[in-house]
Amino acid sequence: MRHGATPAEIQRVVEAIAEMGYEARPLVGRQRTAIGVVGNDGRVDGSRLAGLEGVQELIHVTKPYKQVSREWRPDSTVVRLSGGIAVGGEDVVVMAGPCSVESERQILEAAVAVRDAGAVILRAGAFKPRSSPYSFQGLGKSGLALLSLARRETGLLIVTEAMDAEGVDAVAGVADIIQIGARNMQNYSLLRSAGRSGRPVLIKRGFAATIQELLLAAEYVLAEGNNDVILCERGIRSFDSAMRNLFDLSALPLVHSLSHLPILADPSHGTGRRDMVIPMARAAVAAGADGLLVEVHPRPERALSDGAQSLDPEQFRQLMRESRLIADAIGRRLAEPIGVRT
Ligand code: PEP
Ligand code: MN
Repeated sequence: MRHGATPAEIQRVVEAIAEMGYEARPLVGRQRTAIGVVGNDGRVDGSRLAGLEGVQELIHVTKPYKQVSREWRPDSTVVRLSGGIAVGGEDVVVMAGPCSVESERQILEAAVAVRDAGAVILRAGAFKPRSSPYSFQGLGKSGLALLSLARRETGLLIVTEAMDAEGVDAVAGVADIIQIGARNMQNYSLLRSAGRSGRPVLIKRGFAATIQELLLAAEYVLAEGNNDVILCERGIRSFDSAMRNLFDLSALPLVHSLSHLPILADPSHGTGRRDMVIPMARAAVAAGADGLLVEVHPRPERALSDGAQSLDPEQFRQLMRESRLIADAIGRRLAEPIGVRT
């Protein structure tokens, strides 16, 4: 309550709390009175209290999210995929491939290259949410068919983006993991639809989203009864235009402390520059990332999207070698390709 709030004002707040079905605990101090709200099962909608005379500030102690929180579920979630791949356990799972599916030759070359370097999941967009309507928009359904072909040819699992609620079923028909892109992180009908798809969901942090908003996006999927959610830090906007984005490394341990969900790092979108990808991948593994999402193109200079941040196959092999050493150093290991698992 405000300094100088009258006893009548305090009484009115106490009554309002009781009418809302909670218990009020006034704490009378020398300068002011604070009123605690107890008996709530989750976050209280305080808008009614905020408007009462004498109220200075509402301070929430309870987090707005529930099922994604570590308080709710202390043990880390492990998302189990086919072939024994598990995200969120001891393994660091590497998902790599081009930004977009461009052609049969391109996606098969990319898939073979990332598989031979040790990646276990192929990433590539068939539906691309581009900032400009004049940029390459992806091959759409034929891109999904090419991903399906790459899966059959290489044994790699597939992560690919669904751009709208209507497109979720088509993507779910091919993808082992449905990706929700940064631009769509707060598209709640898409999140709900992905939550009902029966597939694991990868949610990328929006470029102006707080960690709380990222966790609330995941809460939408869990609220549909789907617990298989993987988060991804992919860089946020900052005041400095030196890099495409500011890669928020601290999001990795922060998410692990607040939530039981696994979190990946995407050092490609996180930096926007090929020469920065390997250093940030190393840092992300050291910071506890449960996996990496990396853009790799057989000929980055010819890529139809995100060529400047795409590694060539040789650079990706280096990333894998160095990430493996760092994973070992912190008592983890890189997930093994399907077929060579022991
Ligand atoms: C992508 O993964 O290619 C992509 C579009 O990422 P983001 O949504 O993070 O921009
Ligand atoms: Mn991209």
